Amino acid sequence: MNRDAGGFEGTEQSSDFAAVPDAFQRLWTPHRLVYIQDGQQPHADDCPFCLAPEMDDEKALIVARGRYAYVLLNLFPYNSGHLLVCPYRHIATYDEASPEEVAEIGSLTQIAMGVLKAVSHCDGFNIGMNQGRIAGAGIAGHLHQHIVPRWALDSNFFPIIAGTKAIPRLLGDVRREVAEGWPQSTN
Ligand SMILES: [Zn+2]
Repeated sequence: MNRDAGGFEGTEQSSDFAAVPDAFQRLWTPHRLVYIQDGQQPHADDCPFCLAPEMDDEKALIVARGRYAYVLLNLFPYNSGHLLVCPYRHIATYDEASPEEVAEIGSLTQIAMGVLKAVSHCDGFNIGMNQGRIAGAGIAGHLHQHIVPRWALDSNFFPIIAGTKAIPRLLGDVRREVAEGWPQSTN
């Protein structure tokens, strides 16, 4: 389903999800656009990446929880299966992460790649961290690593970031698929 053109089915409330706002215009999340329009950043007490782990996995779009970091779907995906790896601590940049957090962000990223390969048969990945507003971070106050699966026939990155992107799969369906594909020992 094209969520932007086709409207909202009413089964997923965006206000319930953690998110990284970006440059896209999405009229179904006006409350999130406040971040973009006025440049405000959430504090730790209302940070979506601090609040998400307090909710249940389905509601927060969390696919796996580690000891120091967790993995969730991006509410503003570049592609289906766009994941974020976040430390539980409200830290802004990678150099503030402890050795334990660095290690677990790395291991969760590796596991996520394996799960995405298995469940979505993607051909490649874009992985990275935008740190600071100037570098494009939507939620600059809370570190998060993007994992974007890529397919040989998907669009290249510039048309995606320049315009509207149709995401054919509902977030809840993708979350369930990735969570079910996650190795049990790390979940
Ligand atoms: Zn936070």
